[in-house]
Amino acid sequence: MAVAHVLVFPFPIQGHINCMLHFATALVGAGVHVTFLHTEHNLRRLGGRASSASGSPLLRFLSVPDGLPDDHPRSASDLPELYKSLAGGATGPYRDLLSADAGADPTGGFAPVTCLVADGLLPWSFDVAEELGVPAIAFRTASAGSFLAFLSVPKLFELAELPFPVGGDLDEPVRGVPGMESFLRRRDLPSACRRPKDSDDDVGPALRPLAKLSADNGKARALVLNTTASLERSALAHIAPHMRDMFAVGPLHAMSPAAAASSSLLREDDGCMAWLDAQADRSVVYASLGSLAVITHEQFTEFYSGLVAAGYPFLWVLRPDMVKASQDAALQRTAAAAAGDGKARVVAWAPQRDVLRHRAVGCFLTHAGWNSTLEAVVEGVPTVCWPVSAEQQINSRFVGAVWRNGLDMKDVCERAVVEKTVREAMESDEIRRSAEALAQQVKRDVAAGGSSVTEFERLVGFIRELSA
Ligand code: UDP
Repeated sequence: MAVAHVLVFPFPIQGHINCMLHFATALVGAGVHVTFLHTEHNLRRLGGRASSASGSPLLRFLSVPDGLPDDHPRSASDLPELYKSLAGGATGPYRDLLSADAGADPTGGFAPVTCLVADGLLPWSFDVAEELGVPAIAFRTASAGSFLAFLSVPKLFELAELPFPVGGDLDEPVRGVPGMESFLRRRDLPSACRRPKDSDDDVGPALRPLAKLSADNGKARALVLNTTASLERSALAHIAPHMRDMFAVGPLHAMSPAAAASSSLLREDDGCMAWLDAQADRSVVYASLGSLAVITHEQFTEFYSGLVAAGYPFLWVLRPDMVKASQDAALQRTAAAAAGDGKARVVAWAPQRDVLRHRAVGCFLTHAGWNSTLEAVVEGVPTVCWPVSAEQQINSRFVGAVWRNGLDMKDVCERAVVEKTVREAMESDEIRRSAEALAQQVKRDVAAGGSSVTEFERLVGFIRELSA
């Protein structure tokens, strides 16, 4: 059988890297050679941590330029710029890598690349690969539900569900996303569907290209999703007809638990684990809004006051770039609280999967990014969702209204609501039971013979066939 050598190429931001590195690790576990493609900037940030993560001779890390100058801040608000510059900066070196000779490294046992699995946000990478005779598979790191919502955008315009009427009620139900009509409201659609506050701007020019990107993923040989049938059976069934083939292989971090912990672009503060050790079982609120969210100082204050008023110890991830302005003052206040009575701990970046697995954690206040949502699901930790952007709006609706493993605090950031919602998530037996049942169900999917494992095996066979 031909040696399969897969090039795994994520969009170079934290959530996408984490998820696709778990995927790469799982492929390596199946005996497939993998080249994992970072940007030069990220590979520099990861330093020695990138390669020590692999521990396998079947996995290597290479990089391409992202097209931005070295001193560019690459902050969350620069994502559209990164998106554009990457295509310009990376295409040449990427093309070289895929061409038979450059992609090979006989001394390391690497044959030329035989298959590409690239982030669905990088359509140009598919075109170049197929042009060079390398079959391309699309990988989306978000939920199936959100992907289906983007696929449904033309239908939403056709039904006049979009654009939302100016000043209209965001609690109105939405028709047009199949299988979700019983629970989806306007406010649960991806944030790109909303007009900026008080504006009558047309959302179409921004939204339609995003929808086209999803539809275009259907041209790839197959679509891979980091989800599982038991979480998103209906959405998967509605996506399948739009794709040439489809594989639901998640949650990937639970498929390959030994996966590279060192994909963190920020250094993890492990000190919080000892702090957690000193706390009682299920007594701590873990609060993190992921790698990109930026909040205002007012929102910070409401969260802070609500968390303090709820009365539980809390561990709070406050990235250095997370609070617009006044970060210093904000940090000083929380640090003072932490030092004062030991009831709070603030870190710039946590080893999140270890934190969620810790017996002391009672609930997770999250922005409902898809990785964070899945990580909480697997550990059976009740969640309080406060979605910020992108597809987080729809993920949090699944948490609050479909799986019921947590509560959705969407669009409200008031201290009294934070306090009440956190209390409910910490104390509700019903939510805890749902969270635990969901965790059991998903763990069956990623155990031998489970749906995600079976799908992953089918995917490895598919990749080997494409590589022959
Ligand atoms: N994460 C982490 N430490 C933190 C905060 C987040 O390791 O302090 C990880 C988290 O485990 C997840 C990823 O960063 O894998 C965030 O991805 P997600 O899709 O939840 O959100 P995004 O950052 O893309 O908005």
